[in-house]
Amino acid sequence: MARRFSEFTDTLWYATAPEGPDTSVLQGEVSADVCVVGAGYSGLTTALELARQGVSVVVLEREEIGFGGSGRNAGHCTPTFTHYSLPELRKVLGAPWAERLIQRQTRANDKVGEMVRRYGIDCEWEQNGYVQGALFPSHLETLRGQMQSYNAVGARTRMLDRDEVQAVTGSSRFYGGWLHEEAGGLNALGYARGLGRAVLSEGGRIFTGSGVSGCRRQDGTWRVETAQGAVKAEKVIYTTGAYTVAGWPKLEETFRIMRVFVAATQPLSEESQAAVLPQRTTIQDGRGDIYVYKYNRENRIVASMFPMGARGRDPAYTRQVLSERLKWLHPGLREKLNWDFFWFGELDMQRRTVPRLYGLAPGVVAMTGLSGRGVPTGSMIGGILSDWAMGVREQDLDLRLEPLSRQPLYMNVAPQVALRGYRLRDNLRARRQKAPLPPHA
Ligand SMILES: Cc1cc2nc3c(=O)[nH]c(=O)nc-3n(C[C@H](O)[C@H](O)[C@H](O)COP(=O)(O)OP(=O)(O)OC[C@H]3O[C@@H](n4cnc5c(N)ncnc54)[C@H](O)[C@@H]3O)c2cc1C
Repeated sequence: MARRFSEFTDTLWYATAPEGPDTSVLQGEVSADVCVVGAGYSGLTTALELARQGVSVVVLEREEIGFGGSGRNAGHCTPTFTHYSLPELRKVLGAPWAERLIQRQTRANDKVGEMVRRYGIDCEWEQNGYVQGALFPSHLETLRGQMQSYNAVGARTRMLDRDEVQAVTGSSRFYGGWLHEEAGGLNALGYARGLGRAVLSEGGRIFTGSGVSGCRRQDGTWRVETAQGAVKAEKVIYTTGAYTVAGWPKLEETFRIMRVFVAATQPLSEESQAAVLPQRTTIQDGRGDIYVYKYNRENRIVASMFPMGARGRDPAYTRQVLSERLKWLHPGLREKLNWDFFWFGELDMQRRTVPRLYGLAPGVVAMTGLSGRGVPTGSMIGGILSDWAMGVREQDLDLRLEPLSRQPLYMNVAPQVALRGYRLRDNLRARRQKAPLPPHA
């Protein structure tokens, strides 16, 4: 049965990103050293790294560049891990894998900045930092732990006291906060399309409208097949993420889909901009059931949450939640909010919430499971996947190569259950500490 994804053309980025490069459908047979399947950040950065090293590379994309999460995400580029603290991640991944991934992830924004500058990518890249607020006093302890562990691996982060957090965010609601100075934000589709141009400028080839239906061994190489053509390659890399359709048997069982929505206001007045994120950082309000937001170039607030109950299902109620939460956080925001853009997307969630690298056959790998932190991760992952393609030994790669495995059944419900659990936990803590609860908490 064909998989159905959310609408792609509803997004703010689709309306505002510069045009993508000219690409065409693969017709007939071509040869390359490496064939990359999927033109999101992961596939494009892999192709870019390879093309820069003189490797002949072809990218095959079922729809268009950035059609997946890479063209429709909320645009936060925060070089941290979502679910686990660094000490927890070390326990989950073990040595040497945890330390290697931590180094890659925490330096990911250097990579983004370098690519944006080198290829002149027009994607609203702003590196003004990211704030995580504390909506009840005891959360400050957790944030302090985050600061210490990230600074210990070389990140530039610091705690903000109550006055500082107000000055940086414009919100009087926070008891303090954590500022990650290296974090940034961008126009998701603009970045994906810019990476596509960069690949072409380095001699890589990209074919769109060219979904891979299968891959088989023939005459000592791999034959990656599409409806109207095929790529003969020594090595094949699947980076099809949450938007995986066919391509390789059971690849879509390596993750579970979790939906998320994003909405964008009208461009805000100067008065409103002074009340909301005056320093143009990105922000997460600090609750486990997250509310994240940032500006785009036109001074619209772009906000994102996970669906829960009527939130996400009922459009009028969802807009009300988004507006009332923002106005509660920023009492100085008086303007009526119109959510001009509203869209959904899909995340490839996996149990460990970090990417996993699967060895599918000799010379064929797949990477899925970015679990919602794909802007920095997809940007740095090309370094790891290109290492694999260049013949770096398995034990020296920065991701452990493992056999394809399906997600356990409990992953069908685990992300939603976890979200409800965080919400309950945060509400209880806030009540106990006599901290006000946001509307619709
Ligand atoms: C709504 C939303 C908001 C998000 N917000 C953020 C955020 O603010 N910050 C953050 O860090 N992350 C965020 N994410 C996550 C992030 O966008 C993704 O993790 C990341 O973009 C995934 O990149 P990717 O290259 O691995 O996969 P994708 O970008 O999904 O690309 C996979 C590509 O493979 C193609 N494909 C699939 N099957 C085939 C086939 N058989 N043949 C050829 N091509 C195929 C698809 O069409 C698709 O273009 C968000 C995601 C969503 C959906």
